[in-house]
Amino acid sequence: MKLVTFSARDGAARVGVVDSQAGIVRDASPVLGEAGVLDVIRDWETRGPQLAQSLADLASLPLDEVKLHAPIPVPARDIFAVGKNYSEHVKEFGRSGYDQPDKSEDLPTDPVVFPKATTAVTGPYDDIESHPGVTDELDYEVELGVIIGKGGRGISRENAYDHVWGYVLIDDFTARDLQKKHKQWLIGKSLDTFCPMGPYAVSADEIPDVTALEVRSKVNGEDRQYGKVADLIFDIPELIAVLSAGITLQPGDIIATGTPAGVGIGFDPPKFVHPGDVIEMTITGLGTQRNTVV
Ligand code: MG
Repeated sequence: MKLVTFSARDGAARVGVVDSQAGIVRDASPVLGEAGVLDVIRDWETRGPQLAQSLADLASLPLDEVKLHAPIPVPARDIFAVGKNYSEHVKEFGRSGYDQPDKSEDLPTDPVVFPKATTAVTGPYDDIESHPGVTDELDYEVELGVIIGKGGRGISRENAYDHVWGYVLIDDFTARDLQKKHKQWLIGKSLDTFCPMGPYAVSADEIPDVTALEVRSKVNGEDRQYGKVADLIFDIPELIAVLSAGITLQPGDIIATGTPAGVGIGFDPPKFVHPGDVIEMTITGLGTQRNTVV
């Protein structure tokens, strides 16, 4: 099921179920009331079947007549973002000199995880603010986001997929100068609007093999990034096992799994983005987001 948070002409945000082939969104508010996508995920065992049964009775609207927000507009806590998780990206990042104090092109031996603030989340077609006077080095990172369903601590690799609710497309947008200057990455990764998310939160049953998904980005129509989820250095079960070893994962937690090569700092000279540039990102089955830097 493809869940969205959308608003129609009256402006009220509500949950919808998208049929992307038909180009429609079904308004789930008669079934869900005030519940948001996060509530639906938390109570999926009840809400999932309830939604599936009522789909045919829900009013539908053309997708191009509604505004899509981030499917989870306000995550319950910071996103767990994974750095340096595709080998070619580790090399481009090392070469760039931005990974201070670690300038190595060596692959990490354990996952590199940092928080990305919930307040950075914005919609899949919203503008990204350029923050003049705060940063001069804007960069894009297309990533597969994993949404946790059943929470837990000490989750094993073998059981990891039992805890995955589904997937979402995320741009781990970054101020490279701030990432470099502050060493810890939170500030450079968390400026307002630096986390375009969506368009859809897609339940895992729609993705038979997540490792087959392909991850791409373009800037102003020019191909920039390409990778396969199969090429992650630390795969989804490993990330869940490592994170949950001592932290209780909760339903609705989001893990951004890392970005493939082709980011702006991977080029010499770097290809940062600027106001007016349009960033387009696609992951197989998860839709496409398009954001303009302003
Ligand atoms: Mg990233």
